[in-house]
Amino acid sequence: MYKFPIIEKFISIDGEGPMAGALATFIRFEGCNLRCKWCDTTYSWEAGAEKELLSAQEIYKYIKETGIQHVTLTGGEPLMQKEIGTLLSLLAKDEKLLVHIETNGSIPIEPFKKAYGEENIRYIVDYKLSGSRMQEKMAMENLDVVTKEDVYKFVVASKEDLEEAYSIIKCYELETRCKVYISPVMDQIHPQEIVEFMKAKRLGKVKLQLQIHKIIWSKESRGV
Ligand code: SF4
Repeated sequence: MYKFPIIEKFISIDGEGPMAGALATFIRFEGCNLRCKWCDTTYSWEAGAEKELLSAQEIYKYIKETGIQHVTLTGGEPLMQKEIGTLLSLLAKDEKLLVHIETNGSIPIEPFKKAYGEENIRYIVDYKLSGSRMQEKMAMENLDVVTKEDVYKFVVASKEDLEEAYSIIKCYELETRCKVYISPVMDQIHPQEIVEFMKAKRLGKVKLQLQIHKIIWSKESRGV
């Protein structure tokens, strides 16, 4: 039976996304196919990092035992996990759960949306801007397939990133098709600058998002 490499699993408040501030069960998978310049979860990158190996059934059992209905699958990159479909299939069948998949934008989400439905499985898709140095890895087709319960998230490190995010948001009319968040890279751009940009561009349906867990706990904290 296949076992997923799990870097950490825990309950905490969701620090970002549509359920920000609410409790969630987090499952953090090992491994990422990108190397963002400002990555804050580098500990999830490397094979050989401390981890536990769990089957899809064991992960599902843990999720149910927490008693929390909201689940966040994160990484690393959850969608690059071999046999992630087995887990998604289990989660999709459980209508009591609401699942958000945090994906880095490099993997096409449409096959997953088609295979596992959209009732209780939603996608928080990153668009990596030039400041991350991963922009060329983006699966641009994702911009066409997100739906209203999904999120496109732009993590900005500079004014140039903001301008780039604005172009993508307008070009793909994202504000009318999904939720759109802009989030700062801590210590690289002040949130105030993002607000001023949103005001200047009249981005009325875009939300500034600050990562709550980084306000409550230190940047280095794990399992929070
Ligand atoms: S996609 Fe996420 S985990 Fe991967 S390098 Fe970028 S920030 Fe880190």
